[in-house]
Amino acid sequence: MHLKSVTLKGFKSFAQSTTFALEPGVTCIVGPNGSGKSNVVDALAWVMGEQGAKTLRGGKMEDVIFAGTSTRGPLGRAEVQLTIDNGDGALPIDYSEVTISRTLFRTGASEYAINGQTCRLLDVQELLSDSGLGREMHVIIGQGRLDTVLQATAEDRRGFIEEAAGILKHRRRKEKTVRKLEAMETNLTRLSDLAGELR
Ligand code: ATP
Repeated sequence: MHLKSVTLKGFKSFAQSTTFALEPGVTCIVGPNGSGKSNVVDALAWVMGEQGAKTLRGGKMEDVIFAGTSTRGPLGRAEVQLTIDNGDGALPIDYSEVTISRTLFRTGASEYAINGQTCRLLDVQELLSDSGLGREMHVIIGQGRLDTVLQATAEDRRGFIEEAAGILKHRRRKEKTVRKLEAMETNLTRLSDLAGELR
């Protein structure tokens, strides 16, 4: 599995549709300060479901939409598409190439899609969760992030290892099931109260 390409359109400084082809091996993006190198990395995190505006170096999520320059007006939406070569079947989906896309409109509406099919954020997270590209984005080490990783508590470090090992997905499912069981317990108590009143 490898990331084949990423396309940004209306995302941060990339008003025009711009595609970066990523060959297997190491890809370097070079450019002057402020030219948008980190914005490409932000786009990768964003399309894979990043929810924290601060992680994306903004104040609110809308800040990822091209805000305009002196020569060009602001845009109404940001779109990022990530194409992954899944020839080795590392992603649990029956396609040799997978395209994940995320769109955010200035109205606040947002959309995810896998191979053109609209889906939920949860579907994107589940698809990526065993691939090392999971929700916590430990594969993306931004400037200054290295210190955070090195100074992590033992518990946080366990979280990194669990994510890499693909355990987090099951932990999340367990938490969801426990919440459902608790709701069911409350319903059963209510039912038994009602049955008691009817006797
Ligand atoms: P450095 O080498 O200094 O780290 P860089 O190449 O990584 O810089 P980025 O931080 O990716 O640069 O890009 C910063 C640029 O992106 C700034 O010029 C900023 O104005 C622009 N930018 C960020 N968000 C938006 C937005 N929503 N609309 C338009 N431009 C934006």
